Amino acid sequence: MRGFDCYVDQSGCGLMLPGDHGQWHPAKKPTTFRTTKKSLYDKLWRKCPGCPYHVPIEGSARGFGNRSSMAEDYPQRLAKKLADLMAEEPAEDDGDLIMAVPEVLPPLEDVPMEEEKKPEIGPDEAIILNSRLRSEVGTQAYTTM
Ligand SMILES: [Zn+2]
Repeated sequence: MRGFDCYVDQSGCGLMLPGDHGQWHPAKKPTTFRTTKKSLYDKLWRKCPGCPYHVPIEGSARGFGNRSSMAEDYPQRLAKKLADLMAEEPAEDDGDLIMAVPEVLPPLEDVPMEEEKKPEIGPDEAIILNSRLRSEVGTQAYTTM
């Protein structure tokens, strides 16, 4: 698929995880989204704002469990932005909306080596998209003559 690889540090979108002592810290979790939507690529791209510390995704935090499963869902801010951008100016030639691509980043100590994950639209985003569609289409779709 032709597309744009949009790089996002999830710590720039509010991803927080508990460290070994139970305090919450930003987790970097670099993620690349491949999209055919240029506007989405332009607006979603986000680098780490310069966190002093990142919680590693590996391992588990006492009382919370496995950190990588905790980081499976996109942080609220990222999910919202993604949904907004996907709903924005829908064009016929936008093609497939978005998919994750395998990491091709240089190994840093806090870069998790994880399996490719298939992004899913959660119920919240589906509702947002739905209500946007409804406000765009209006009630016309239901009108019978
Ligand atoms: Zn960061």
